[in-house]
Amino acid sequence: MKKLGKYSIGLGDRFGHQGHAQLKAIIEAGRKGVEITPVWNKSNREHMIIGTQPSDVRMEADTVTKDAGFIKPYFVDADHINLDTVDKFIGSSDFFTVDVASYIGKRTDDSDISAFVDTVGKYTGRLDVPGIKKAMKCSGKQLTDIAEKYLFAAKKAGEIYRKIEKSKGAGNFITEVSMDEVSQSQTPVELFFILAMLGYEGVPLQTIAPKFSGRFNKGVDYTGDPLKFASEFEEDLMVVSFAVKEFKLPANLKISIHSGSDKFAIYPHISSLLKKYDKGVHLKTAGTTWLEEVIGLAESEGKALDLVKEIYAKSLEKIEELCAPYADVIDINEDALPSGNEVMSWNGRKFASSLRHESGNRDYNPNMRQLIHVAYKLAAEKMDKYFRFLEEHEEVVSECVFENIYNRHICRLFV
Ligand SMILES: [Zn+2]
Repeated sequence: MKKLGKYSIGLGDRFGHQGHAQLKAIIEAGRKGVEITPVWNKSNREHMIIGTQPSDVRMEADTVTKDAGFIKPYFVDADHINLDTVDKFIGSSDFFTVDVASYIGKRTDDSDISAFVDTVGKYTGRLDVPGIKKAMKCSGKQLTDIAEKYLFAAKKAGEIYRKIEKSKGAGNFITEVSMDEVSQSQTPVELFFILAMLGYEGVPLQTIAPKFSGRFNKGVDYTGDPLKFASEFEEDLMVVSFAVKEFKLPANLKISIHSGSDKFAIYPHISSLLKKYDKGVHLKTAGTTWLEEVIGLAESEGKALDLVKEIYAKSLEKIEELCAPYADVIDINEDALPSGNEVMSWNGRKFASSLRHESGNRDYNPNMRQLIHVAYKLAAEKMDKYFRFLEEHEEVVSECVFENIYNRHICRLFV
């Protein structure tokens, strides 16, 4: 049976050129005694925007691991799939992020709701979760509300899981369930009952991606109260352990943090809580590798810098179109964006340090960083030219990719 290790990282590589550099960061962590399973992920949204196929991600993962002589487990994640999109991912993926966000809030049959409420009724009133001192409470009314909001989605997760299982066979793939791309976060109490639903549905999920409170914008730091996040995350960890026992879920079930890259304000809390309770986590870092490519090309000066300046200027013109698919996961203050003309006069160092996530650097501009984050479509439109520069400046670019994953992410969280 395929099992996901204690620590794993979701690596996004939109243009398929940085797998070697990403894997190098994983191998370096292994040298320091920290085993991390790499998972290459790409969502349907990214495939559509760039024009790639799920098999391209499989090919990249197989190639880079083979070239590096990497014989530990690695996976290819069909990221954020649902019933409409799963089919084309089945052949090449062995990790499925079953996204139930679009089903949340739809009400299932009364009989299913009352059957569920009856089955878990014993957890209402005071909910004693081992490890949580402050008593958690859930009234009968709250339980019904939770069932009305989430049971339909849990059933859909079961349907999607069984569809994948039918063609791949049980145990031949990892299942994650994600609920992060919604407007309201899930409380630890809700998470407990959602896990109950998934347990009864027979979904052997190994990771669950809730939506936490606070903002998890793409590619930039956490917005919210880190201490509040820490106590919520600690409760979620305890809830997951308890649910595993109560609902016969896989023993290695762990939390997955989506849009997990760059959340430096909460990494110390996550890191110390994982160590305190000896728990694992899946950190999905997604598209920041593309940002490192832009940074590396900027640092290479000359025509490579001209190209990324051009992409930036164009992104200002197309800002609405580029941001629309990401509305829930970015916050850009347009007044804080430098104009295309202004940027034209910058050297590569200035352009790179405006994008690189070093909050101590005066040039760092999180608004510009978020805009470039969603602007990869513009590079896809000049794919040949873009790839030529990536290849020409491979050394600089892959160093940026490695440095970002290894030093800013792996070292802060796991080492
Ligand atoms: Zn997500």
